[in-house]
Amino acid sequence: MGELGALKAELHTLQEKALAEFTKAENLNALQALRVSYLGKKGALTDVLKGVGKLPAAERPVIGKEVNAVKTALAEGLSACEGSLAVLEKQRRIQSERLDVSLSGRQSACGSLHPVQQGLDEITAIFSQMGFEIAQGPEVEDEFHNFDALNIPPEHPARAMHDTFFVKDTDDAAMLLRTHTSPVQIRTMKRLLEEEHALPLAVVAPGRVYRCDYDVTHSPMFHQVEVFKVGEDISLAHLKGVLQHFLSTYFEKDVSLRLRPHYFPFTEPSAEVDVGCVFCAGKGCRICKGSGWLEVLGSGMVHPNVLKSVGIDSTVYSGFAFGLGVERLVMLKHSIPDLRLFFENDVRFLRRMGA
Ligand SMILES: [Zn+2]
Repeated sequence: MGELGALKAELHTLQEKALAEFTKAENLNALQALRVSYLGKKGALTDVLKGVGKLPAAERPVIGKEVNAVKTALAEGLSACEGSLAVLEKQRRIQSERLDVSLSGRQSACGSLHPVQQGLDEITAIFSQMGFEIAQGPEVEDEFHNFDALNIPPEHPARAMHDTFFVKDTDDAAMLLRTHTSPVQIRTMKRLLEEEHALPLAVVAPGRVYRCDYDVTHSPMFHQVEVFKVGEDISLAHLKGVLQHFLSTYFEKDVSLRLRPHYFPFTEPSAEVDVGCVFCAGKGCRICKGSGWLEVLGSGMVHPNVLKSVGIDSTVYSGFAFGLGVERLVMLKHSIPDLRLFFENDVRFLRRMGA
């Protein structure tokens, strides 16, 4: 076999080998690498062509035709493999990016108001619907508004019962975290009178209060709602009527009511208010400790000294006032056993209480 025959055989082998390798390429990148290794400037075909120089001039066109045929065959082989690889890669991509549109969506957790805030809103709304104006006051109070103006003078024993957090002593008066929402009564009556608001004044004042106390039913910070009405001829009957409406609306049932004589410095007469147990309907249970009654709030007729401290003539005007613990009412309504649950931020509790 002469040089020509050897070259032809070499070209043939190269073509067979190349086409076989093309079909085995696993992806388009591998195929591209093969294209370069066979058809590139420094590729296998170029190597074979180096032998062409040794051929006699007459034989060169013959081998030129052969080379072109091999080039065409390789180009066709490449493009066929390219086509099938492109299809394959597309299928792989579709497979990996597959979306199951029939899967149900992931639910994102929805936030809700804290149960105490829900209670505050609910309670305030009931009084608001009865025509009471909403008022607020500062949480850092002076002794005058928290005690003196509410008929609790400096040496009064009731001061000791309040377990007060004092903030700082100024020259004039000690500042403290208010121990109840009753100082809002004083501030609001003064403000409304300065604004020449006509009597009667009917106000509901929700807010945070602070006492140095912590157990199953006490927290150093808790919420109260103060309610009062001052005008001509306001009597205990008005107090009882408002309480009856409020408690029945709040507990969503007709509750029975009991006023027990009590003592508060800022009301006279004063009464603790009990509702017929909402759990056992008065039969007696663990929650009402067998009594059939639940103590829910303290109330009374505004003490003449309190009216005097804001310049209201107690011989002409009278009023009722009461303050209720929001946590206590929410606990009773939702059978929550421990007040501390409200402040522990346990998300399971908060979810259960979510609206
Ligand atoms: Zn009961």
